Amino acid sequence: MEIHHDCGCESARERLDILIDRELSDIECADVRAHCETCESCQQEVAVLETLTEKFRMACAEPAPDHLRIAILHSVKNAKVIRDV
Ligand SMILES: [Zn+2]
Repeated sequence: MEIHHDCGCESARERLDILIDRELSDIECADVRAHCETCESCQQEVAVLETLTEKFRMACAEPAPDHLRIAILHSVKNAKVIRDV
């Protein structure tokens, strides 16, 4: 029986954050996930990263500061003017 290929902790951890960001291909994901299934410490690492990522996304979803909102509005207006001409 063939033992499932294990990419190892070091290799898995290098790619954990990319896995969380969904930037890995399916094959690479499977590789890292397969390792995490057999490795408890990497499993915990994934859980921590997922929590952090979730918090980060929530922080980003908060309203932008006024000066940033104004800058965005300006660029949208300018884009509209250019489009209208
Ligand atoms: Zn591991």
